[in-house]
Amino acid sequence: MGLRLSTKEDLKCKHCGFVKERLDLYCYFAWNGGQWSDRRELAPNQAVPALVQYCPNCHRFYYIDAEGVYMTDVNDYNWIEPVEYEAILPSIREYDHFDWEPVIEYNQRCLLLWAYNDKFYRNPSGEKPTEFDLRVAKWNLLNLTKFYEDPVMIAELLREAGMFEECLEVASKAEVSEEQNSILNKIIRLAQEQDNRPFMIE
Ligand SMILES: [Zn+2]
Repeated sequence: MGLRLSTKEDLKCKHCGFVKERLDLYCYFAWNGGQWSDRRELAPNQAVPALVQYCPNCHRFYYIDAEGVYMTDVNDYNWIEPVEYEAILPSIREYDHFDWEPVIEYNQRCLLLWAYNDKFYRNPSGEKPTEFDLRVAKWNLLNLTKFYEDPVMIAELLREAGMFEECLEVASKAEVSEEQNSILNKIIRLAQEQDNRPFMIE
């Protein structure tokens, strides 16, 4: 993804025309949390412009150019760190207003998945997802399956979506390497136990 200097036009709200001063930017830390079944470790360890920007005037979200932008002055950034579930969720609610390019949709859905699992499973806050959170997570996971051909990853996404029968169906037909086999077996075992939590890959 190439970078270029942003212009004020990039920051103009697509809904109300308001031009904000600061670009929303997600800041990732280097991930030392191990390898996880939802591929959380693949998050970049750097600051990246949020592709979906918040409008402080009309409180809606809009989409910026997929090419990516940056600004010259560090004060022009609105840092969002780390990428939190609350920061991602409202932008997803406006998804049908966007003409999502596949790469953007994939990125945004991965961010939502990781942030969701960070909040509800990887952080010991004890907070439980609401019915709404669960519905959003399921919708997100099912939409993510179309980006994968790897049956192990598809089975994992279905398991995390709570679709255990469908997960087991995909898993039963998967032909995998020895290395993947232990992961697949764990997915199968957890699906049989109706456990939809992500797990660490040893
Ligand atoms: Zn606006």
